[in-house]
Amino acid sequence: MALTGIQILKMLPKKNCGECSIPTCLAFAMKVAAGQAEIEACPYVSEEAKQTIGEASAPPIRTVKIGSGDAAFTSGGETCLFRHEKRFENQTGIAILVSTDEAADSMEAKLRKINDLEYERVGVMMRTNLVAIRDNGGAGLAEVAKKAMELAPKAAIILMSSDTAALKEAAEACGENKPMLYGADGDNWKDFAALAKDTGCVIGVKGKNLDDTVEVAGNLVDAGIKDMVIDTGARTMREAFEDNIVARRSAIKEKFKPLGFPTITFPCEMADDLMMEAMIASVLMAKYAGIVVLSDIQGDVLFPLLLEQLNIFTDPQRPMVVQEDIYPISGPDENSPVLITCNFSLTYFIVSGEIEGSKVPSWLLIKDTEGLSVLTAWAAGKFGADLIAMFVKKSGIGDKVKHHELIIPGYLATIKGELEEELPDWTITIGPREAGHLPAFLKEWQPAA
Ligand code: SF4
Repeated sequence: MALTGIQILKMLPKKNCGECSIPTCLAFAMKVAAGQAEIEACPYVSEEAKQTIGEASAPPIRTVKIGSGDAAFTSGGETCLFRHEKRFENQTGIAILVSTDEAADSMEAKLRKINDLEYERVGVMMRTNLVAIRDNGGAGLAEVAKKAMELAPKAAIILMSSDTAALKEAAEACGENKPMLYGADGDNWKDFAALAKDTGCVIGVKGKNLDDTVEVAGNLVDAGIKDMVIDTGARTMREAFEDNIVARRSAIKEKFKPLGFPTITFPCEMADDLMMEAMIASVLMAKYAGIVVLSDIQGDVLFPLLLEQLNIFTDPQRPMVVQEDIYPISGPDENSPVLITCNFSLTYFIVSGEIEGSKVPSWLLIKDTEGLSVLTAWAAGKFGADLIAMFVKKSGIGDKVKHHELIIPGYLATIKGELEEELPDWTITIGPREAGHLPAFLKEWQPAA
């Protein structure tokens, strides 16, 4: 049962010292109750209180961590069924499958692609999160795990086998980069429980179906194993979709512990071609999959999945923004054009990318619009002529350029007259509506006479 802020406050030392980065114990207690702060942030709270509060405030879906450093991947920690209720905490991991009996050159090519295919979007680097290594004899788990760490060092590792001795050897070969050990079932769960205690690794439960998964996970929970990822055995999209929903609802609504773990799903075993796997993965990502495993990696398949991952797992209550400021692009000087736009991240990165692509050194003014896009911000009264004028004056851009010409987004053409009244020393020029037209516009641009 979750504790209220007041209940948590009663267990705090009430020093109001602010060492937890929050000014008062009451505010800290409220944040812990809302899941926005960790009780460990208070250095003075007793171990007993830490345990009581930690357990009571733990999310219904356990947070599990696989790997370390650049390869660290976190899954779970979820507290709600729908993104708009709060937010989804940890993105679905995209894993690529390799087998220990795969031809060395094909495997190495896959691992190199996992490492090389990386994309930047709104300032976020996006890439494959994990490599899943299936034990099929051949080179052996430990050897392939070492190869994966060498060629794809930013991907966490999942080791898949029912042979706990081979898993232990491979886990040791991974060292601090602790992999997930997948393969605990109704027959071997005791061996996996011992392996988890021995290695400190996350265990992957391999159920035959949902009921069997509950039984195996329940046994492991009773044996004191805390960090698990569960596979309900579903090998069609429909089954996996339904199981993911049942697991999430049971954990969040009923606090049902054996299903309170991130799920791992295998689109690679649900379709014969990679495009279909990706479509299945996209459905499962939208409905609670903790990890989706694909059989191969291609840019045209990976990129849309990464975009979906980015879209679903951003906080809907906190718009993605960049800071209000003057951004010099490509080394502008006193004769360079001055443009202004809103601070919605996507707008900033698209506009700045086009300016950079134009190779015309420019000053880009970013006005705080609370993350709203140009037209929405204008309609909401956050990007009107008076506010823009105030920002231009205080920004100091007037001292950086000889000309006083401000290029506004084409969508704000209607405020040109108003802005000229607010900024009588400036010439207001209407820029293109679409960022894609900026390069041509800037190449033609000359300061107004
Ligand atoms: Fe209170 Fe602990 Fe935070 Fe200090 S560090 S303000 S005692 S909660």
